[in-house]
Amino acid sequence: MVATMIVVAAAPLAAQTTRAVPQPRPQDTEVWTPVPKVVTPGSVDAAAPSDAVVLFDGKNLDQWVSARDGSAAKWTVANGIVTVNKPSGDIRTKRSFANYQLHIEWMIPAGITGEGQERGNSGVFLASTPVGGYELQVVDSYQNRTYVNGQAASIYKQYPPLVNAARKPGEWQTYDVVWTAPTFNADGSLATPAYVTAFHNGVLVQNHVALKGVTLNEGVPFYRKHGPAPILLQAHGDRSAPISYRNIWVREL
Ligand code: MG
Repeated sequence: MVATMIVVAAAPLAAQTTRAVPQPRPQDTEVWTPVPKVVTPGSVDAAAPSDAVVLFDGKNLDQWVSARDGSAAKWTVANGIVTVNKPSGDIRTKRSFANYQLHIEWMIPAGITGEGQERGNSGVFLASTPVGGYELQVVDSYQNRTYVNGQAASIYKQYPPLVNAARKPGEWQTYDVVWTAPTFNADGSLATPAYVTAFHNGVLVQNHVALKGVTLNEGVPFYRKHGPAPILLQAHGDRSAPISYRNIWVREL
């Protein structure tokens, strides 16, 4: 792809002086090697503990709203699972959370088509803020090559998973996540970064990694001060079949 450039006018008095600023491109921040080793996961016990806040128990989306406008979440609930409704956009929790433990299950549909990022892409945004969120990537990573910092269980464009513990399309998968929210000073500067520890199908894939800021498709991550925030599930714009979620619960820490 040809690099696009934008030209920014310099100070008005510096006649005829311009400087070219490279526009960030998605591929600038893609990492393709080393490829995480493939690990076949074991089984996971996923029942909600007694002190969990159940965010989805298979019956309804009462704990969720449209991220676009706060109206009722319009994803499809049937047979105990919720399936992404792409045209209606992302959904987020009504509640906001600071530090927590999260359990969520997801399934790429059998027969999924497409490749790379265009194959069952969704995502769990561990905190959704006005300037962006922190995405634990959901995408088919069973024999589906993409940049490793964008495969399943990556912190998008920041950390590839330690290993690839993906199951096949058509099989349910789990994420268990410990989220430590970032903290900020009174002047808005970062005091401590966000940390993520995550297990994919019971296998450690992120070990207390310090996030560099909100996860972006283009450009350099940054932090902007925020407090407790909703958890958001992504309706990605790719044309592959929508994925499903079930059994979502959180324990505030
Ligand atoms: Mg995604």
